[in-house]
Amino acid sequence: MTQYCIHHPTIPAHWLCPKCSSAFCPECIVRRQKAPHKGSGSLHLCPRCMQEAEWIGAENIIQPFWNRIPKLFAYPFSLNAVCLIALVAFASAIFSGPGLIQSLIRMLLWGVLLKYAYASLQATARGDLRSPPIDEKTISEDFFQVFKQLILFFLLGMGLVLIAANLGFFPAILYVIVAVLFLPAMIILLVTTGRLTHAVNPVLFISLALRIGWGYFLMYLFLILLGSAPAVLAHYLFAILPAGFASFIASLGSNYYTLLSYHLMGYVILQYHQQIGYSVDYEDFRYDEASARDSGEKEDSGDPVAREVAFHMKEGRHDEALGVLRRAKAQRGLDGLQQNDMYYELLAIQKEKEEMRHHAPVLLEQLVLAGQKEKACKVYLDAVAGNPEADTDPTVLLRMGTWLNEQGNSRKAIGALNRLVKSHPTDPLVPKALFLCARIYGENLENPEKATRILNVLLKRFPDHDFAAQAEYYIKQVRVS
Ligand SMILES: [Zn+2]
Ligand SMILES: [Zn+2]
Repeated sequence: MTQYCIHHPTIPAHWLCPKCSSAFCPECIVRRQKAPHKGSGSLHLCPRCMQEAEWIGAENIIQPFWNRIPKLFAYPFSLNAVCLIALVAFASAIFSGPGLIQSLIRMLLWGVLLKYAYASLQATARGDLRSPPIDEKTISEDFFQVFKQLILFFLLGMGLVLIAANLGFFPAILYVIVAVLFLPAMIILLVTTGRLTHAVNPVLFISLALRIGWGYFLMYLFLILLGSAPAVLAHYLFAILPAGFASFIASLGSNYYTLLSYHLMGYVILQYHQQIGYSVDYEDFRYDEASARDSGEKEDSGDPVAREVAFHMKEGRHDEALGVLRRAKAQRGLDGLQQNDMYYELLAIQKEKEEMRHHAPVLLEQLVLAGQKEKACKVYLDAVAGNPEADTDPTVLLRMGTWLNEQGNSRKAIGALNRLVKSHPTDPLVPKALFLCARIYGENLENPEKATRILNVLLKRFPDHDFAAQAEYYIKQVRVS
């Protein structure tokens, strides 16, 4: 059962508060830098009680592997992986002849691929779903791990030989079935504990498979089905193609399968890390789809004041939200459109009429700057148009004239333009405002007399202005019609 953020019902929670048991998404959790002596990284606090919250674990956040089969198949198709798969296949085809040296080279090539697959598994298990880069670190670091896997396969083979020799055919078949069934569990144990003795311990690998439950058996079926495909392919290829080419294609198939199956095992570790007891650190957790699954509303997470206010608002504590903004305003002024917008909204909710009227021109200026037409018109009509004392910028008034007229509110548009002309008579925008005003009268209000009168005022006051020529032309047009 996925737990969702208490404020975002569609976003899986990443954090759980041990005190109030509320779950939060990354948007809602409060982040604080850790004290230097407590190591690097950040603290994650419950926004309700400021207690340190616990990471909820990957299972809640990631998609189960059976829901992302196409992505699993696509994993080996990254540039890095394709290059390595092709290179190893090509080299294996060249050294496909008999002889000890050739066999040793093939073994080494297989070892390189296995090491890369192993690195993919480890990265996936940490939540990093990109294929690892091909570099010295990926290929050679911890190469001993590959030997451990070889020893594991060798031990399983030895077991088969011993059982077949001492107990006969059917026990040997039974042994193979059990060994193959639990091989993924053994590899998972080998990777998560790094110890061969754990990997071959039946108590451990059987209980691991049981803890993962039916997800384990689903993975197993998937691996068996996938694994048989390259084997069948190889069987037919060798019958119809030249040996070198057939071994190249067969090697491509088996390399692809190896990488895919290791990635899948890594993903199963990630998905069930809590059941397995494998600790995935939130700091290391890089899950590219986590953000992709986030949908719906997005707050500007970069602004701590806005976050805090948004949180109080969601909790219905409007007075506290307003308090945060008032304090911020008194200390250093409100910063950015978001804060100003929230402040206005809260003032409206709390019916703080006086404060709202003071704040409206400030917000309006920012809305005009941001080009938010509809909201700007609304704020203007609600709190500025009817308040002659509101200090309004000429640029804002001209913009309001244009936008309100576009919205079909010609009367209010003219009101804004008149206000510009009257309260800023010397402003360079006045001729433009007069011209616009005349056009609104002429075109939208069908009042050519009024339009002509305004244009004459424009001509008289600004005879040398660029608009004069246009105004004269316009007056002629009106006379003709
Ligand atoms: Zn809490
Ligand atoms: Zn949330």
